[in-house]
Amino acid sequence: MADALAIAAATVRDRIGDRAGGWDLAGVLPLPLLRELGAAGVLCAQLPEAFGGLGLSSLQNGELTAGTGRLCSSVRSVQTSQGMAAWTVQRFGLPEQQRAWLPDLASGRLAAVGFSETGAGSDLAAMATTVRRSGDELVVDGHKRWMTAARYADLLVVFGRYEDGAAAVLVPADAPGVHVEPVADPMGCRAAGHADVRLDGVRLPAGRLLGGSALPLPLLVTTALAYGRMSVAWGCVGILRACLEAASRHAATREQFGQPIGRHQLVAGHLADLLVAEQVATRVCEHASRCWDAGSAEQVIATVLAKQVASEQAARAAATAVQVLASAGARDGGVAARAYRDAKLMEIIEGSSELCRLLLADHALAVAPRGEEG
Ligand SMILES: Cc1cc2nc3c(=O)[nH]c(=O)nc-3n(C[C@H](O)[C@H](O)[C@H](O)COP(=O)(O)OP(=O)(O)OC[C@H]3O[C@@H](n4cnc5c(N)ncnc54)[C@H](O)[C@@H]3O)c2cc1C
Repeated sequence: MADALAIAAATVRDRIGDRAGGWDLAGVLPLPLLRELGAAGVLCAQLPEAFGGLGLSSLQNGELTAGTGRLCSSVRSVQTSQGMAAWTVQRFGLPEQQRAWLPDLASGRLAAVGFSETGAGSDLAAMATTVRRSGDELVVDGHKRWMTAARYADLLVVFGRYEDGAAAVLVPADAPGVHVEPVADPMGCRAAGHADVRLDGVRLPAGRLLGGSALPLPLLVTTALAYGRMSVAWGCVGILRACLEAASRHAATREQFGQPIGRHQLVAGHLADLLVAEQVATRVCEHASRCWDAGSAEQVIATVLAKQVASEQAARAAATAVQVLASAGARDGGVAARAYRDAKLMEIIEGSSELCRLLLADHALAVAPRGEEG
C-alpha cells in the first residue's frame, strides 16, 4: 500500500502543480482533471481494493489529502465529497448496491453529498427533504444547499426523511426534476463547484435507497460527517503546510532594515507559531486516523477533535502567513490569500467550530470523574 500512496501522491502533485491560483480566479476546475484523478482512485483512496479503490488506511489517505490540500483546497473539497459519498455507500449500502456503485466512484464518476437546507444547517434534525414510496419507485422532493462538487457530479447522495426515520438516496444528477444552481462567488474554495440543488418530484427505482429501509437520521448523518470531518481536518494540515512554506520562504529572502525579515524577532515569532500549528494539527489528525485504522471506540471524538484543532489552527495560520508576506501575499490567487479565504470556511463546514466544541464539552462531561473532588 505504500506504493499506492506514493503513486497517488505523485499523481496529485503532477496534475495540480502550480495551477490552483488560476482555477481559484476562474472559479472552476477542469472536468477532465477531476475525471482523471477519480479514475486514478485518488478521490476516494480509502475505498477497499475489493470495491475498486486503492485500499489506503485512514492515516495514508490523510497524508494524501493533506498533499492535495497543500496545493489546492478546491480539489481537496471535491476529494472530501467523493470520499464521503463512497464511505456512505460502503457503510450503508446493501452488497448489491456496493457492487453496483462503488467501482464507479473509484473510476472517474463524480459524486456530491447533500445534507444542508435553508432551515437545516447546523441543526440537521430540521431537514425537510422527503423520500417516499410510490409503487415500485421512490419520489424525492427537497432543496439542498451548498453541495460541494455538485456542479461536476454525476451522482448526488441526498439525505432526507423516509417513513418513520431517514434515508440516503443515490440520485443521477441528470434525472428529470433535478435542478443544479451554482452558488455565485463563494468566498473560498472557489473552484469546488458548490451548488444548490432542487429536487422536484424526482422519481427513482426503489433500488436507489441505500440499505433498503429507514434508518435513524442521527446515525446516517453522523456516520457520513465523520468521514468528511477527517478529510477536512487533513485538508487543513495541507493548508498549514502551504502557509508555513510560503511564509518561511518569504521571510528568508525578503530583506528590510538590512537583513532578511525572518531575522527580525517579531517575524521569527510568526514562523515559530506556524511551525507549532502545523505540528499540532498533524499530530491530532494522526491520532484520529490511527483510531479509525484500529476501529477504536475513541474514533468519533478523536475525529471531532482533529477537525476542531486543524480548522482553527489553519484559519489562524493563514492570517499569520498573509501578515508575514504583507503586500506579496495580498493578491487573490496567491497561496496565502487563497489559504486565508479557504481556511476560514473550514471552521464552518462538517460541523462548525461551535458545534464541535459542544460535542467536545459533552465528551468532557461524560468522562469527568464522579464523586468528591480530590
Ligand atoms: C464552502 C462550503 C461547503 C459546503 N459543502 C456542503 C456540502 O457538500 N453538503 C452539504 O450538505 N452542505 C454543505 N455546506 C453547508 C454547511 O454544512 C453549513 O453551512 C453548515 O452546516 C452551517 O450551517 P449554516 O451555514 O446554515 O449556519 P447556521 O447553522 O445558521 O449557524 C450560524 C452560526 O451559528 C452557530 N450555531 C448554530 N447552532 C448553534 C448552537 N446550537 N450552539 C452554538 N452555536 C450555534 C454556528 O456555529 C454558526 O457560527 C457547505 C458550506 C460551505 C460554506
